[in-house]
Amino acid sequence: MQNRNSVILVVDDNATNLKLVLKLLKFEGYQIVTATDAEEAQAVVQRSSPDLILMDIALPGMDGLTLTRKLKGDKKTAHIVVVGLSASAMKGDDQKAFSAGCDGYITKPINTRELQSQVAEFLEHAPNAK
Ligand SMILES: [Mg+2]
Repeated sequence: MQNRNSVILVVDDNATNLKLVLKLLKFEGYQIVTATDAEEAQAVVQRSSPDLILMDIALPGMDGLTLTRKLKGDKKTAHIVVVGLSASAMKGDDQKAFSAGCDGYITKPINTRELQSQVAEFLEHAPNAK
């Protein structure tokens, strides 16, 4: 299973949400790295070359969609699978996420029974899946 060695970057400015996602994915054996804003996320991408990013869209400062556009526009990072995360109440956010280059979209609140399989599914379709 390729997911055992996959590196996942979780970007979220909400500590509770970050903790929940970490707890859910930790048991899957992924290597998890985190960031709480877009600037930190860029540094972590350089350092850890994640296979997948769970990208909160609403971030202080640079938002998650702007960062996604940057990553997808750079050939060094364009292969990283980016999954946008946003509150389901934000209508139209899914379309905005896809047009910014997100490969997938998950609505918040996180479905704690679905997240692991959603992430596994996205990783399976990663262009450089090991
Ligand atoms: Mg947020």
